[in-house]
Amino acid sequence: MSPAPVEADAAQQVLHEVFGYTAFRGRQREIVEHVAAGGDALVLMPTGGGKSLCYQVPAILRHRAGQGVTVVVSPLIALMHDQVGALDEVGVPAAFLNSTLDGDEARRIERELLAGRLVLLYAAPERILTPRFLAMLESLAERDRLALFAIDEAHCVSQWGHDFREEYLGLSALHERFPQVPRMALTATADAHTREDIVARLKLEDARRFVSSFDRPNIRYTIVEKDEPKRQLLRFLRDEHEGDAGIVYCQSRKKVEDTAAWLSDEGIPALPYHAGLDAETRRRHQDRFLREDGLVMVATIAFGMGIDKPDVRFVAHLDLPKNIEAYYQETGRAGRDGLPADAWMTYGLADVVNQRRMIDDGEADEEFKHLQRGKLDALLALAEAHDCRRVRLLGYFGERYGEGDEHAGAVPRLRCGNCDNCLAPPATWDATEAARKALSCVYRFRQQGGQRFGAGHLVDVLRGKQTDKVAQYGHETLSTFGIGADVAETQWRGVLRQLIALGHLRTEGEFNTLELTASAREVLRGEVQLLLRVPAETPRRGRTTRTRASADKPPPLPLDEAATARFTALKAWRGEVAREHNVPAYVVFHDATLAEMARERPASLDELATISGVGTKKLEAYGEEILRVLRQDA
Ligand code: ADP
Ligand code: ZN
Repeated sequence: MSPAPVEADAAQQVLHEVFGYTAFRGRQREIVEHVAAGGDALVLMPTGGGKSLCYQVPAILRHRAGQGVTVVVSPLIALMHDQVGALDEVGVPAAFLNSTLDGDEARRIERELLAGRLVLLYAAPERILTPRFLAMLESLAERDRLALFAIDEAHCVSQWGHDFREEYLGLSALHERFPQVPRMALTATADAHTREDIVARLKLEDARRFVSSFDRPNIRYTIVEKDEPKRQLLRFLRDEHEGDAGIVYCQSRKKVEDTAAWLSDEGIPALPYHAGLDAETRRRHQDRFLREDGLVMVATIAFGMGIDKPDVRFVAHLDLPKNIEAYYQETGRAGRDGLPADAWMTYGLADVVNQRRMIDDGEADEEFKHLQRGKLDALLALAEAHDCRRVRLLGYFGERYGEGDEHAGAVPRLRCGNCDNCLAPPATWDATEAARKALSCVYRFRQQGGQRFGAGHLVDVLRGKQTDKVAQYGHETLSTFGIGADVAETQWRGVLRQLIALGHLRTEGEFNTLELTASAREVLRGEVQLLLRVPAETPRRGRTTRTRASADKPPPLPLDEAATARFTALKAWRGEVAREHNVPAYVVFHDATLAEMARERPASLDELATISGVGTKKLEAYGEEILRVLRQDA
């Protein structure tokens, strides 16, 4: 296939006319131009980075140039549905083929496809690899009407990754059968191993690689010590996210149910989601979350993949995720629209103990357990960190914060200004001595009665608390009794967490009793220095006091009273349109677009056209109505 020359600003024009956006983000322009000209590409971009436009703009350009349809491989039915809905709203002919369609509908779409009317066709991999579908592709290819294959969620091809899908392995057939058709693979998975798997399995060795920074500057990371988790969560929601949509992750199904019920009782609209609910309930809850404003989804990790709702304002973890990869992926579901969002987590000693136990007691072989322990340690180090969380997160993925940033002069930065530790640097204390005291107390227990005890009792003894258990075992006679009275209980818990995380202590049995490990000796000898954060109550932060991280995305300007009234009126109007068209509200217009309209108050169609997110089709379809809503609420 001959490469099509891309006219200088054709891509920019499509971006503006069709999508109503003024500028490409990050590397979008390069990617679009490369792919529109017929090049293969591997695109790595964080969630919310704007991957869809990277194939949608080339698809439009290539279709206009008579090169036919772009086939998008996607594993997720809900996502296909929303993407096609969104394309429909901006006037781009697109469709999907999946198991939700009946025979008649499917055949109608196939006819459209063969007639060359579609710009984009979304389909699941298993559908694409059927003989019937491949035959249709052959027929298009023979006529040079197959413009591009875009393989979304490409990490699904890797067994190393977290979402392996058998069907993705078959996709290498596309290259074998249609070597002349350009291909691009897209993913938000950052790790190098998965990346190489994608290249090898999809035969993309010659594809150009576009690796973006994985930073999500609008997400604020906060990790607090678990104290009374429910109360902490409630305060976080009430203080900072009233009326916002968000996700609360819990580890067990029961906790999901309990938390959702409890939030509802507290007047916060919340729904449960976990694999134990029947398919119909899950679908209904997911649908409501996508379509309604301000719902909180309380879920296990069964929820989230393919949720591209852009206005998720927070992701809260009530339990520790499995590792940093999982944490980054789960928190990444917040703030895809680029507006400020929170990643908030509470964790405590029990989390550490449980996770260790799950690994130790697991079926896996020793090598795998070793790998898992290493990953857990990295996560704990992040949780206990007293320096910038973002620098650590990105560092974990091999990125030096600030280095990939064209505007910052390629100098790695040490602080982001938008995580809890940057905003309120925690005090630290030297816990070296305390750690020695704790370990020697465990040692004394063993010496005295040959018995082991859990963390609670250990802290009581260190602090010199007279409890029944202390009396029962005669522990007030130990030389370590009361030697740590000057250290607060929360601080002791921090010390024990660290010692377990670092592998100097381990927990055993049903009661999580504590036992020294071989490396404890190094601590006892004072060879290991421990610098810990002083546990602090999370400061209250009103919405208005939010400071912004990096300069690349401007904060949404606060709306004055009149503008807020207009914004509310526009949202109500949007809700009606969304219901009528059976699409989520954000498919009609994003919050950011409505906010700009409310603020700028355009008085004519020409003025309205300058608002970001208003393309030609939407201007035509909704322009007059929007102006009417704005006039009414003047
Ligand atoms: P990803 O698939 O990478 O997670 P999306 O393609 O869903 O991200 O894009 C995230 C959001 O950003 C979408 O709502 C999209 O409309 C918006 N967006 C993408 N590119 C731009 C741009 N150049 N200008 C303005 N908004 C954009
Ligand atoms: Zn920071």
